[in-house]
Amino acid sequence: MPGPTRYDVTREALAEHLDGEPRYRLDQLWDGLYTQLADPADITNLPKKLRQRLDDELPTALTPVTESVDETGDTVKFLWELDGGSRVETVLMLYPDRATVCVSSQAGCAMACGFCATGQAGFTRHLTVGEIVEQVVRAAQRAKQADRRVSNIVFMGMGEPMANLTPVWKSVERIHGDIGLSARHITISTVGLIPGIRALKDLPLPVNLAVSLHAANDELRTEMVPINKRYPIDDLIEACSEYLQVKNRRVSFEWAMIDGVNDRTSDARELAALCRRLQPHAHVNLIPLNPTPGYPTMGTPLKKVYAFRDALEEFGANATVRQNRGTDIDAACGQLAAGQPVTITPKV
Ligand code: SAH
Repeated sequence: MPGPTRYDVTREALAEHLDGEPRYRLDQLWDGLYTQLADPADITNLPKKLRQRLDDELPTALTPVTESVDETGDTVKFLWELDGGSRVETVLMLYPDRATVCVSSQAGCAMACGFCATGQAGFTRHLTVGEIVEQVVRAAQRAKQADRRVSNIVFMGMGEPMANLTPVWKSVERIHGDIGLSARHITISTVGLIPGIRALKDLPLPVNLAVSLHAANDELRTEMVPINKRYPIDDLIEACSEYLQVKNRRVSFEWAMIDGVNDRTSDARELAALCRRLQPHAHVNLIPLNPTPGYPTMGTPLKKVYAFRDALEEFGANATVRQNRGTDIDAACGQLAAGQPVTITPKV
């Protein structure tokens, strides 16, 4: 097993690489890595020889494979190779008022949601703190080239963050405390692992919680999101409600709209009833289903998506339609597969 990478190392462990150097070097190095987002070789207030040594001793975790830019130029997808050969993706999205990085928390995913390309490919391994933080750093370096600063982080890339919560949380602490992003601009999205939601509730920073709900009754949800069998909707809503009470942060529900599956008026009615249990804080994000190779069902036509939103509002819930980003480079929600082959799932 190779040693820790650049952004795995804690401040204390980093000090060991500076043995014999004046004490202020640690601040210079930490600031170089986390504020300037620089490679050790480019931290120019360090002596040249030291820079070179640090560059060798603190290897990067992510080897770039490809970088794809969508037709608008505002969405960039990075494909990385990790130690051991598995691959993950990161997406940078530039909006007029914010710049968001969508990070992966695992290579692959074990949750097996049939409509998601990551789920179709299966689980490979957890990511380390360094592998998660470096995704943010690399994307922020890329944003800087466009004169932009990253303002938001969403754990909505490959993997289930709650199934890898310890490294995910440590990376949240680094992103917040060292890179300097507000915890209120960090969102952790989960398929609905209740123990993870409860653990997150007891952790100090007020991050946003997003829950991939997709269905508002257990029969349909278990078909779409198999883990629902273990963590059914009623218990899930209860856990969200506790999260809200403790954190006073927004909880949102993601709802990938699948034609004829979860876009009926009865779905809107049931979903709104769940949202009302969490009022005033639950918010629904409607995502027209993005195409993935292993799932033959179509997304709901846009007109019907907006009608569903109107129905939700009529039933007393708040909803927005998520702008689709990067479908032409397979960078949109549910499309991240890092080039893995996928298995075909029968139609729901
Ligand atoms: N595992 C976590 C993090 C992934 S977030 C979770 O499930 O929340 C990615 C989001 O995109 C999730 O809400 C997921 O359900 C949604 N999604 C998956 N496949 C999709 C698809 N084909 N079209 C639109 N959204 C999809």
